[in-house]
Amino acid sequence: MAWLKRKDADAASTDRQLSEEEFQSLTRISAAVEALPLGVVIMSADGATMWSNAEVDTMFTPQSEDHVLFIDSVDSVLRDALKGNVGQTDLEFGDPVIRTIEVSTIALGDGGAVAVVEDVTQRLMIDRVRTDFVANISHELRTPIGAISLMAENLIAEMGESESARLAEIILNEVTRLNETVNDLLDLAKIEFDGLSKRESIHTARVIDEAVGRLRSAALAKSVMIVVEDNPDMSVIGDRAQLVSAVGNLIDNAVKYSKQGSIVKIEVTREDGRMLISVADNGSGIAPEHLRRVFERFYRVDDARSRGTGGTGLGLAIVRHIALLHGGDVSVTSEVGVGSTFTLSIPAV
Ligand code: ADP
Repeated sequence: MAWLKRKDADAASTDRQLSEEEFQSLTRISAAVEALPLGVVIMSADGATMWSNAEVDTMFTPQSEDHVLFIDSVDSVLRDALKGNVGQTDLEFGDPVIRTIEVSTIALGDGGAVAVVEDVTQRLMIDRVRTDFVANISHELRTPIGAISLMAENLIAEMGESESARLAEIILNEVTRLNETVNDLLDLAKIEFDGLSKRESIHTARVIDEAVGRLRSAALAKSVMIVVEDNPDMSVIGDRAQLVSAVGNLIDNAVKYSKQGSIVKIEVTREDGRMLISVADNGSGIAPEHLRRVFERFYRVDDARSRGTGGTGLGLAIVRHIALLHGGDVSVTSEVGVGSTFTLSIPAV
């Protein structure tokens, strides 16, 4: 393998002279790639040469141990890309890890391959500090929230029918909402922090049963019937508690945003090696302009109504995060006034 710091226009023309126009556009493209604030490494179709831009050259001290490791790793992922295996890899340096370089490969039309290289160490560190902060603050808030709830409950019990008891009830409702938000924030922080730390074989039928079991009383309170239409047992690899939480959040929403006395249908199917869990309701539905954004943190379609139903705006962000951790995704189809269907898709084994 030849590690070329720079391949100039002359070297690019192998068996014929470049026209003036070709030469100019090649120079322009090469200058643009050189100036990119992202590292770019290109491998020729025969795997014989690699070309890197200036950003890559500044990433490591030349000939250092990490530099050699980096070149070997990029060489290997680019060779994979030449065979059609493109994707994203994190290269970690140091033990414990002190530097992470993200490498994304793309196959080029002429049979070559390109790797986009980015030092994500700083970004990962900021993410970790943010997640840590949210987890710590949520944890700290739990104790005073618990104490306020308890005191409000005592006040209600002691004050009978008085105005003060009514005020205490409002305090209790607000604190309960605050508690739900803190719990969801803590859940999300935990999922972000731990990632997919457990990888066990999970029976999907049990995941559905457990999630439905958790929502039975909430559904009963609204006279909503949860119907599990089809629940064949399949296996997926992942974290059982996280999957129960994801499915539970979808059922929770379906119940919350449905009218009194309606039906929520759950169906599990297998399609192209994936397990699809769909949760369908005939509730309020979501307008098209909101559909794309409902998976964002704290996004609520109708703030007032969502608050009224006890929403935190974090449920679907949690579902999406769990789906992505399991190599899957979550999607939604919906029509206002007709209902919504959320589908969780996870690779099956
Ligand atoms: P929330 O805790 O507010 O329910 P989510 O993240 O779970 O937060 O959902 C985001 C928003 O998406 C909700 O506020 C609601 O407006 C909308 N939404 C979610 N699920 C449904 C559903 N099944 N039917 C109608 N709207 C929904």
